[in-house]
Amino acid sequence: MAGCFLDTSALVKHYYPEIGSAVVDQLWNDPANVLFASRLSASKIVLSALMIMAMVALVLTFILYSAWMNGVFLRCPHCGKIGSWRFNTAEPPVEKKDEDGVLQESTQIRICRKCAKRVLAKWSDHEGRTFEKAN
Ligand SMILES: [Zn+2]
Repeated sequence: MAGCFLDTSALVKHYYPEIGSAVVDQLWNDPANVLFASRLSASKIVLSALMIMAMVALVLTFILYSAWMNGVFLRCPHCGKIGSWRFNTAEPPVEKKDEDGVLQESTQIRICRKCAKRVLAKWSDHEGRTFEKAN
């Protein structure tokens, strides 16, 4: 009976196909072999998977936060559908700043991609973002 010790990179090759996976799978499937892996190898794999999941959760949180800050989830006041917007470059945003140059209010025309009607997007430092019907 032969015994093989699998370090972390060899153990990963069994679960994730890459160069050397065929050799590891051959050892894995041979009933005459006894395979050993340290608890450290298994915990490193679990830790790596947790780190990947944490990174994915962090990126998704950032994407959803950015979408929320840009009013993606606000409803169109005309058709009531959750927004998908485009901007009219002919009508740039109108901004009001205080004496220090800090943005206090901003208004901009957006076009609803669902009903193609004009929406006035308002943002202020005190009231947040709101959408109104625009003519
Ligand atoms: Zn609409």
